[in-house]
Amino acid sequence: MFQKKIFILINFYTRIFIINLMKKIPVRCPTCNQMGYIEINDIDLQPNIRGIMGVNVLASVICEHAFVVYIDNNHEIRDCFSTDFTIHLPELELDEKDKSNELIDLESINIDLITANILSLTIVNILHACFLKKKLLFLNDNEEINLHLNNFVKFCFQDSFDIFFEAKQRWEYGREEETYKEYIIIENERVIKDEENTLNPKKIKIERVMVQTFLAKLEQKTSLILLKNEIKIAFHLAKYVKKFFLSKGGLASRPKDLIKYLDKKSTISVNRYYVKFLIQILAKYFDVNIKDKFDFSGYIDWAWFLE
Ligand SMILES: [Zn+2]
Repeated sequence: MFQKKIFILINFYTRIFIINLMKKIPVRCPTCNQMGYIEINDIDLQPNIRGIMGVNVLASVICEHAFVVYIDNNHEIRDCFSTDFTIHLPELELDEKDKSNELIDLESINIDLITANILSLTIVNILHACFLKKKLLFLNDNEEINLHLNNFVKFCFQDSFDIFFEAKQRWEYGREEETYKEYIIIENERVIKDEENTLNPKKIKIERVMVQTFLAKLEQKTSLILLKNEIKIAFHLAKYVKKFFLSKGGLASRPKDLIKYLDKKSTISVNRYYVKFLIQILAKYFDVNIKDKFDFSGYIDWAWFLE
C-alpha cells in the first residue's frame, strides 16, 4: 500500500505539465516580472499527497522567458523559477524490487540541516560529479552537517550509481591529503580544486533542475525519495541509450531516432538536453563513448551536442 502511494507520487512528480485548458491562474515571470495567466486543466489539480504540482510555462506564453511555477491544491503559487530551456523529465515505471536492501534510512537524514547550510549550487555540483563518476570531497568543519550530507548523498544514489563522495572536516583532510589527490574539492561554498573543469555551471542543466525541483517541495522526505528516483531513472535510461546503439549494429543514427526510441520506452518523454545528459553519463560513468555513432548531417543545430 505504501509502495503504491509512493509510486503514484513518483508518476505525478516526474510529469511537468505542458499547459492545458480551463483554470486561469495569474503568474509573474521571475525574470522580467511580466504578469500573465496560465490555464490549467482542473483534473491536473486534483488533491494529491504532496499537494503541489509543477507547471512548465513555455517561452512566449507570458513573455519571452520559460519558467516553472509550483501550484498547490488551492491554486496558489508556491514557488517559481526560470529555466533557460524547456524540460520534460522522463517518466518511467520503476521496479521497486531493491527497495528492501537500502543501506541509508531516510530517517537518518536531517534534510532541513542540509538545505539550510549547503548551497543549492553545491548540491548540483555533487550530483553532477556523481553522475560522471568523478571523485568529490566536500570540506566543512561542522561534523553534524557532514554526517547528514554523507547520508543524503548516499541515500540519493544507493540503488543506482556507485559514487565517490565524502564530506569531511579540514583537519581530517589535512591528515590524509594524499588519499584525495584525484578528488575535486569543494570547501564550504567554493570549488577549490577541479583540474578538469568538471563543475562548469554553464554545462550543468539537468542536475540544476533536479535540485531546484527538490528544494521547491513542501514535504521534504517525499521530495528526497523522488529525487532518488529521478537519479535511478537517469541510470536506467543511460543504459537504454547504450542498448539503442547496440541494436544499430554500428550504423550511425540520427539524434531524432534516439529520442524517438526513448519516447517509445514506456512513458518516457525526453528532450535533447536530457539526451545529452544521458550521453555524458554513458561516456563518463559507463565508459561507453557513442558521440561518433551519430549522423549529424542535416542537424547543424546539434553541433553543441558534441561539446
Ligand atoms: Zn519574462
